[in-house]
Amino acid sequence: MLLSSAAISLNPQSLPFLSFSHSVSVPIPHPHPFLPNPSKPTHFPSLQISCIDAAQPFDYESHLKNHYIQSTSLKIAILGFGNFGQFLSKAFLRHHHTLLAYSRTNYSDLANQLGVSFYSDPNDLFEQHPDVVLLSTSILSTETLLQKLPFQRLRRNTLFVDVLSVKEFPRNLFLKYLPPDFDILCTHPMFGPESGKESWAGLPFVYDKVRIGDEENRVKRCDKFLGIFEKEGCRMVEMSCMEHDKYAAGSQFVTHTMGRVLEKFGLESSPINTKGYETLLNLVENTKGDSFDLYYGLFMYNQNALEQLERLDMAFESIKKDLFGRLHQVYRKQLFGDNGEVDKKKMLPQKLLANGSLIEPPLDNVRQDGS
Ligand code: NAP
Repeated sequence: MLLSSAAISLNPQSLPFLSFSHSVSVPIPHPHPFLPNPSKPTHFPSLQISCIDAAQPFDYESHLKNHYIQSTSLKIAILGFGNFGQFLSKAFLRHHHTLLAYSRTNYSDLANQLGVSFYSDPNDLFEQHPDVVLLSTSILSTETLLQKLPFQRLRRNTLFVDVLSVKEFPRNLFLKYLPPDFDILCTHPMFGPESGKESWAGLPFVYDKVRIGDEENRVKRCDKFLGIFEKEGCRMVEMSCMEHDKYAAGSQFVTHTMGRVLEKFGLESSPINTKGYETLLNLVENTKGDSFDLYYGLFMYNQNALEQLERLDMAFESIKKDLFGRLHQVYRKQLFGDNGEVDKKKMLPQKLLANGSLIEPPLDNVRQDGS
């Protein structure tokens, strides 16, 4: 069939209410050569087709999408809209959940910008009947806050979640203060605004379903909440709060302690940074943004933390002993020679502590090979 290449597309500016994504050229059949009077110009109605992407009221697809979002979205109330609360809420919003927040500081401007409804009174917040109440307050303030919350304004089987960096402590507080009908999920996203700023993929998310009712809607609600972290690619780790605290004292508390020690020590970048040194600089960078309240909470409310701090202290002392022990041998050799006689020429002034240990080793006299 003979086809004309003539085609006309609509000018998007003439229809400003439509959003155009493509215009399609539609070929128009050429007049048949054997029809009478072919020389006479034939008039064809203009054919105009364009595709639009803007959602239309009759757009079934967008109706389905909205319906899906509504059925999978949760109304989440965040208590404690500080550093970590804000960080989490940005991710929750990406997953189309409705966000409400309460904090003792007034964050209404920031909350508005993010699309979070801010309440300065927990009574007003709880009257909105959130599906999930998420506690993101400092570890230290948790009990005082829980004692003040107006639980009677919530729906009877609200899900309570916490993200505190210690787990047995909030678990016990929840069991003590929450009404028995409430569900309890204790969680710890093992990353923060610094370590999780690019992506959460592969980062550990620890959770313990402390008390979730059997009804289908309660099980689903908990799964929907956990689904946020699953969809972000977190490594989901289900373990008891007790186990978490044992592991976390050995890893997280030690990490924070070393980060703080090195920050106090005053690490500085140099033009010849090794990879190992870069790791130390990153450690300081990752931990220095966290409040001292957070660090103190890790120490105070994880019963394994004190033991870890003592072990660190002992390890440091032991390393120092190894170093000074070796130096002592070198120094003896210098003083007494191989046959144990004192070499008077090599005798150097020493500074001794009251207990007799050397505190200013004469490093200039020690050769690199230790001889
Ligand atoms: P944080 O210093 O542990 O907690 C700050 C939050 O606690 C703010 O929302 C603050 O409210 C609130 N708060 C402090 N004292 C309060 C009091 N007396 N009464 C009421 N609210 C009080 O810092 P964060 O980094 O935001 O951590 C929040 C929680 O997330 C902590 O439990 C922490 O263990 C956990 N977490 C943090 C990270 C992290 O990387 N940062 C990672 C995992 C888990 P205002 O801002 O209104 O004062």
